[in-house]
Amino acid sequence: MLQHLFLDDALRNAVLTAPLAPAPPAKGDETWKCSICTCDNDWSVRCCVACETGERPDKEDPVPHGDLLLQLRRAFRFMMDSDLQAVDTSLLVEACRDLGLHFRVTAQNDSSEFLDKLLERLEREVGGSWQSGVVKQALRVRVSSQLVSAECPHRKPVNPGVFEKSFKVNVERHGTLERAMAEALAGELLTGDSRVECEQCTAEHQANGGGGAGGGGQ
Ligand SMILES: [Zn+2]
Ligand SMILES: [Zn+2]
Repeated sequence: MLQHLFLDDALRNAVLTAPLAPAPPAKGDETWKCSICTCDNDWSVRCCVACETGERPDKEDPVPHGDLLLQLRRAFRFMMDSDLQAVDTSLLVEACRDLGLHFRVTAQNDSSEFLDKLLERLEREVGGSWQSGVVKQALRVRVSSQLVSAECPHRKPVNPGVFEKSFKVNVERHGTLERAMAEALAGELLTGDSRVECEQCTAEHQANGGGGAGGGGQ
């Protein structure tokens, strides 16, 4: 994952050159998130008030503001300048210990969750106008989807131009990521109550003097 961030020219340059953004106002850690039901609880309670099973985690020693940016920059610098074939990322991992991951940072975590939270933290630490713009844009994709009518071959594109941070692609049994993404964006056939009425066919139908429902003959 470090390589993915590193290989993005804009993101790498932003990390290497960004001044540190001003620290956000310190807030007393007043809540903890239940790992079982994800409910937020007050620090004064030991047991989750919602599910009564989740327990308050140990208080994480907060990572100082700017540490993640610094450690990421250090790792990038090593990747560029070092003759060694490997980078020691232990300090970088340490700077990620309070990102709020589901499991401890040293344990196996969901990689998309990790990436999301890492970029979120980076967004807070990266200053400078173009650098912060780059981080905000990082990994945004254009999501376009289609509604497919059951009766005809027409497709109606939905929400083109809406930018989302990420979207899920089911890669099972697709062989390549490219095929999996094509499949994920291929459109959704809606039937039953949620079936879509094709606007194109309705318009043509009306233009042909249709008006009434049912395909009455000449
Ligand atoms: Zn709970
Ligand atoms: Zn149609």
